[in-house]
Amino acid sequence: MIFPRLLINTKKIKQNTETLVKLTKDHGIEVAGVTKAFCANNDVVQAMVDGGIKFLADSRIENIKKMQNFHLKKILLRSPMLSEIEEVVKYADISLNSEVTVMKALSTEATKINKVHGIILMIDLGDLREGIYYSDEVISAIEKIKDLKGIEILGLGTNLTCFGGVIPDKNNIGKLVNISDFIEGRFNLNLQIISGGNSSSIYLLGDDMLNKTNNLRLGESIICGRETAYGNRIEETYDDAFILEAEIIENREKPSVPTGTIGMDAFGNIPNFEDKGIRKRAILAVGKQDIDDSGIIPLDEKVIILGASSDHLIIDITDCDTEYEIGDIIKFKLTYGSILKAMTSSYVNKKIL
Ligand SMILES: *Cc1c(COP(=O)(O)O)cnc(C)c1O
Repeated sequence: MIFPRLLINTKKIKQNTETLVKLTKDHGIEVAGVTKAFCANNDVVQAMVDGGIKFLADSRIENIKKMQNFHLKKILLRSPMLSEIEEVVKYADISLNSEVTVMKALSTEATKINKVHGIILMIDLGDLREGIYYSDEVISAIEKIKDLKGIEILGLGTNLTCFGGVIPDKNNIGKLVNISDFIEGRFNLNLQIISGGNSSSIYLLGDDMLNKTNNLRLGESIICGRETAYGNRIEETYDDAFILEAEIIENREKPSVPTGTIGMDAFGNIPNFEDKGIRKRAILAVGKQDIDDSGIIPLDEKVIILGASSDHLIIDITDCDTEYEIGDIIKFKLTYGSILKAMTSSYVNKKIL
């Protein structure tokens, strides 16, 4: 066994997917399963597929490329780089777009190899990440791309909460629905996909505006069993499909406050310490290169996380009922951000259950 190790329970991922597919289906919404947090690991992808998702979606073309054995339509979530157009047309069926220049390049490349690439035009409803800011610019963009060969406008989408923290509601989702109705009338287009956001839209299921959309792109809710507008747990899902195991390499009693003049830590921050006297401290062989130390939750509730540097995680085990020893393994649940880091770190061993 090699530590640190990430245990991945694909049965739990399948169950989480089934729950979300059912929840959304009841409102006429199909799920694009978002695979980026686990780098499109094919065993986890399979669990999502078994759980009933309709599309596979990822922001990286490398991950889309890894999923060619799966026969669902693949959506590239991040606007293509001009430098990757060839691969995008080759490996992705659909991409999210907001730049006419990019869509023209997709058109040229797709025409060249006799393909039709699907376009979901992204509308920025105020969160200020990707998309054409909602205005007449949306109309003029459609005018410029509607007759291009090799691409097909499949629909519209929006992304909220990820950057500006804006929560989906009647008002902003209503704007998406109105723009979509207007475009269909004006250009005689049939928009097949209206993608109403990510895991932050789940709390809104059943709302009359969200009911007029038909697609959600779900990552965190499937992986962690959590909606992301308010951070609430979703019933009938697991929050521990991913578990991190790390090994104790030092186990000593030390004061709780450093000795000497305090400058900056390894990451340029000035640390702050509370004096609790002499404490039992353990060091685990895992660090910021592998996880986000503010995004890991010990299964032993009496373990206190003190902090981490690149390769060391320091914990306080004074209050624990277990007498931990060198070589023992401490287990953690992970937030979405920590799963992303652990999956991406080549130093973390991945074990599929
Ligand atoms: C990552 C991503 C998602 C998934 O977001 P979750 O909050 O994990 O559900 C959806 N859409 C886009 C454009 C993304 O980049």
